[in-house]
Amino acid sequence: MLVVTCVKQVPDTTQVKVDPVTGTLIREGVPFIMNPFDAHALEESLRLKDKYGFRVAVISMGPPNTEVTLRKALALGADEAILLSDRAFGGADTLATSAALAEAIKKLGQQEEIAIAMCGKQTIDGDTAQVGPGIATRLGYPQLTLVDLIVNVDLQAKKVKVRRRLEGRYEIVESPLPAMISILRRANRPRYPIVPKRLMSQDAPVALWNNKVMGLREDTIGLKGSATQVRKIFSPERAKGEILGDGVNKPEETAKLLLDKLTEKGIICL
Ligand SMILES: Cc1cc2nc3c(=O)[nH]c(=O)nc-3n(C[C@H](O)[C@H](O)[C@H](O)COP(=O)(O)OP(=O)(O)OC[C@H]3O[C@@H](n4cnc5c(N)ncnc54)[C@H](O)[C@@H]3O)c2cc1C
Repeated sequence: MLVVTCVKQVPDTTQVKVDPVTGTLIREGVPFIMNPFDAHALEESLRLKDKYGFRVAVISMGPPNTEVTLRKALALGADEAILLSDRAFGGADTLATSAALAEAIKKLGQQEEIAIAMCGKQTIDGDTAQVGPGIATRLGYPQLTLVDLIVNVDLQAKKVKVRRRLEGRYEIVESPLPAMISILRRANRPRYPIVPKRLMSQDAPVALWNNKVMGLREDTIGLKGSATQVRKIFSPERAKGEILGDGVNKPEETAKLLLDKLTEKGIICL
């Protein structure tokens, strides 16, 4: 049985700059990394491999240089890597991204039974957390989001039990397989690659699936299949904070100052 892990290559956000004229991201010269959430998703998949004997396939949609990230996943212990890359896939929003990834997972499922489609909770560039649920919806899988622990997998009953971390509480959920799981960073600490695997990964095959291989309708993928358009990218301006009173000695006075300010701005009406 297969665990398919979706891994996105993202710019190292500590180094990303926005072009002041066009408002788009300057990607030239920016180092790329495996999306940190996906490193945790991959680690979780590899732990399932160690414990239950699953095979782990990694899949990524992106430009040709995404191969570097997939090789890193192979070095960590993934068994198979697939790169979805084609100009037709470019400019995809989350709808079109999840469409292409779901079709690729379906294609893998024709060769081997799929147990889990594993995703990170979100990416550090797009940041939407929509792709995992999008994949689940398209595949008809139950979606187990915000997971910080996979409690166990019952291979006979084909069920998985996970812990979801919600605001102020946990939720233990049992779901039939196959399922989509999206993983929180707190779930684990990703392993380091061992030297022999790192060497092996340099020559290991990375399957390239372009749209000739996938055969998807062009109006369902890439820019044409996207329901949204990015008009502008910019950093939100942050209003400067203001300290009222000294906050310690005369709290009534400070509270009055605050009430006056909020009333003046029309935020509250006394
Ligand atoms: C109109 C439009 C045009 C865009 N054009 C571009 C563009 O030209 N170039 C560009 O780089 N971005 C573009 N984007 C951004 C693009 O939508 C997102 O990068 C992409 O849809 C993934 O969304 P996300 O990063 O929010 O992922 P999230 O939903 O936050 O990711 C959740 C999880 O899904 C999986 N996942 C997400 N994306 C991938 C992937 N590509 N491969 C494998 N697994 C994945 C990972 O496991 C990840 O942790 C565009 C967006 C829009 C709306």
